[in-house]
Amino acid sequence: MSEPSIFTRILTGEIPAEIVGESANVFAIRDIAPQAPVHLLVIPKTQEFRDVVELAAAAPALMAEMVALARSLAVEHSDGDFRLIFNTGEGAGQTVFHVHAHVLSGSLNEKSLG
Ligand code: ADP
Repeated sequence: MSEPSIFTRILTGEIPAEIVGESANVFAIRDIAPQAPVHLLVIPKTQEFRDVVELAAAAPALMAEMVALARSLAVEHSDGDFRLIFNTGEGAGQTVFHVHAHVLSGSLNEKSLG
């Protein structure tokens, strides 16, 4: 079995973080280095999927659950509009290989990507 990821260690309480929401199979935290007025991470409780490509192929319902939690958090924390970003692969800036979605919301620059 692989070592627990940083997000698994947050989920089990080993590492402190601000947990802002959860549903049956997904939880959400506030990003420690925010890139937008609202910057949350939506994360499956299982760490078995390393990126969104694996997740979408193997567990589309889990991906849909992530999108639903992102939406409800964007409504709760902002105006309901949001960007959902999955960095996929080291070359794209992914550093934690436990799939997670960045939820960016609130006063976003229309032209920027992140
Ligand atoms: P990147 O670091 O390039 O954004 P990822 O897409 O893998 O790569 O995202 C990991 C995210 O996890 C980063 O936005 C980082 O700020 C966030 N993060 C890392 N450690 C913690 C933590 N302990 N609590 C909250 N967020 C964290």
